[in-house]
Amino acid sequence: MKKKVVVLTGAGVSAESGISTFRDSDGLWEHYRVEDVATYDAYLRNPQLVLDFYNQRRRELFKAEPNEAHRQLVRLEEKYDVHIVTQNIDNLHERAGSTQVLHLHGELTKGRSDKDDSLIVEIGNKEIHLGDKAPDGAQLRPHIVWFGEAVPNIEPAAELCERADYFIVIGTSMAVYPAAGLIHYVPQSTPCYLVDPKAVPISRPITIFQEKAGTGVKKVVDQLLALAQ
Ligand code: NAD
Repeated sequence: MKKKVVVLTGAGVSAESGISTFRDSDGLWEHYRVEDVATYDAYLRNPQLVLDFYNQRRRELFKAEPNEAHRQLVRLEEKYDVHIVTQNIDNLHERAGSTQVLHLHGELTKGRSDKDDSLIVEIGNKEIHLGDKAPDGAQLRPHIVWFGEAVPNIEPAAELCERADYFIVIGTSMAVYPAAGLIHYVPQSTPCYLVDPKAVPISRPITIFQEKAGTGVKKVVDQLLALAQ
């Protein structure tokens, strides 16, 4: 049976595809306040502003292409059972060819009913506007987990982490919970790797590649593929 590799990715894995991260100097939060565009209260106060923010993210996504880091993670599937747990709302892992991707914070290419969280619809690259309806007649909203909302996929993600034979963290500031807490579910005996150009606070032994995902992920993937020979 193939060993299991669990990969936790954040905005940094998509940075080289031209998608802004949140907290870097040119990140999105330089231009927007979280509380204006990424909370349910913001949506109640000014739905058009919030919908426009995500319409713009969707436009940006459809101009972007997967980068070398996304592609390298697909190579790992030749020898391992690879599960990507991503905080990203883009679909670049899937477009690169990764087959098992769990989204913690939702997906830009989906919308859902404002009244029923389980009523999720594919929207692709379409915009959402006020008056657009979900199948139950309620307003359609982005299928995004906003700050302060529950993270339904955290439990399946924690279960994957508990069973990881190898764990890789890529391009996340580890500042957003509960996602950042997932590393505590990874067994102490599991080798861990980190790829990020900045120093990220992680309180356990971890092999660090302090560089961009485009080059660093290939090094981790080459090491793991060599171990599986
Ligand atoms: P963050 O903005 O807090 O941190 C980004 C991290 O990526 C930083 O540690 C930074 O050093 C690193 N980074 C920057 N360029 C990199 C590169 N080329 N290669 C590797 N690492 C690089 O992002 P986060 O920790 O994912 O923050 C969490 C929130 O941001 C999540 O909720 C996520 O939904 C959201 N987000 C998603 C996207 C996306 O879908 N692509 C984009 C922006 C923000």
